[in-house]
Amino acid sequence: MQEKLYLGVKNHASGDYFVTACSLPAQIGKQHDVNNQVLLDPKYRTISRIHGMIERTTRGFVYTDSSANGSRVGGLVVRDSRVSLSTAFQIEIENYTISRVEVRPFIILSTNSKLTQLQTLELLPGRGLGVGDVRALNKKNPHRVSAVDAKEAAHELLDLNRWTEWDMPLIGRLELVEQQPIWVSDLDASQPSGASVRRNKGPLTQARTPLTALDVIEIDGTRIEILTHHESRIVCGYDRCHLLNQPPLEANCRFCGHHLANSGGFSRLL
Ligand SMILES: [Zn+2]
Repeated sequence: MQEKLYLGVKNHASGDYFVTACSLPAQIGKQHDVNNQVLLDPKYRTISRIHGMIERTTRGFVYTDSSANGSRVGGLVVRDSRVSLSTAFQIEIENYTISRVEVRPFIILSTNSKLTQLQTLELLPGRGLGVGDVRALNKKNPHRVSAVDAKEAAHELLDLNRWTEWDMPLIGRLELVEQQPIWVSDLDASQPSGASVRRNKGPLTQARTPLTALDVIEIDGTRIEILTHHESRIVCGYDRCHLLNQPPLEANCRFCGHHLANSGGFSRLL
């Protein structure tokens, strides 16, 4: 399994903080590019399009600066050169501090009404994950490359910790605040979606709804599952339910009472 590194990114100018999951080597910069795993706000001119890179070597983490204005590591300026990092490192780039953090993310899985898996993303601290109507997103930016097939999915999850996804029309957003996932409704009042959003088959009455693992948010036919690592779950096979349950398979659904072992082709044990 590829090693994953979680980086906390603090913008001291705006007060924003977010966490990003990186595979190594992790490139840092402001250019809209998939290789830039830590994407910094492009409005800061002293930050380079590709500013630096973190790698793991046999001697530990190494940071290579490739910028015009340099970075600071341990109070020292690093410009166009390499420096060793400690295990709990901090890299300063202009108004940003980037540090290694330990997090336990929630896993957000979207499926359509046929239970076809569409997207799997981690919910990390920061702006969170947005949910938009695919047609509205494509209308807003006709040049975007959608992460889902519009024939398969009506809604798409967007990683709002990347600036490229800001200013998109959203139906709602998942946020992680102090290890608590929260659903935030109706972000963009100027774009009434008319979508019906439900949590575990019930109506959502608050603008901010706290969620727990195994909750399911449904937006019309799209299902968004709130999951944690290393936990198996069973989708209820009753086709008007399809909610998530903990094992064992011999139990009844916690929502509708349907016997989970009778789930037939609808059930899946992950
Ligand atoms: Zn059920």
